[in-house]
Amino acid sequence: MTKEQQLEEIAHQVRVCTRCPLYKNTIHAVPGEGSSEAKVMFIGEGPGYWEDQQGRPFVGQAGKLLDELLQSIKLPRKEVFIGNVVKHRPPENRDPLPQEIEACAPFLDQQIKIINPKIIVTLGRFSLNKFLPGEFISKVHGQARFVNFAGQKRVVIPMYHPAAALRRSIIMEEIKKDFREIENF
Ligand code: URA
Repeated sequence: MTKEQQLEEIAHQVRVCTRCPLYKNTIHAVPGEGSSEAKVMFIGEGPGYWEDQQGRPFVGQAGKLLDELLQSIKLPRKEVFIGNVVKHRPPENRDPLPQEIEACAPFLDQQIKIINPKIIVTLGRFSLNKFLPGEFISKVHGQARFVNFAGQKRVVIPMYHPAAALRRSIIMEEIKKDFREIENF
């Protein structure tokens, strides 16, 4: 199987997944999308309203900002991979629960393994905590960290979630700066 086929197989498994109750109130699963050869993989929290409507990650307001940030470093969206910690929308956009994150983790772990990106950019605290448990985003954002994840050495650059940047202009400045760190790899 090619890498693309392997990713499509995971996407299929996500679409029929009932490992946690989140799927019950959703329209679409959001398995993630992008290049199977991506050097940079972005990991958000979970689908919101528009993502649930369309079955695609980061297509709402936060997604527009992510698109602008990608453009600012001349990185085409189709060349990266964009995924989430949970693949079905939590009701009312509430935080994903630990057991939901755990149930969904094997999908994300397999996506990382297949794509084998050079850098993982975590967006927000839930994806940060997957790789750097106990760290605070306000402290580590924008700093590349080497982590041992599932037996592999990986570069993780934690960033604020774009939705947080939309709420607070000071975070907007930080995320714009932090994105430039991607260019160093
Ligand atoms: N926020 C996320 O964390 N992920 C999405 O896909 C959209 C918004």
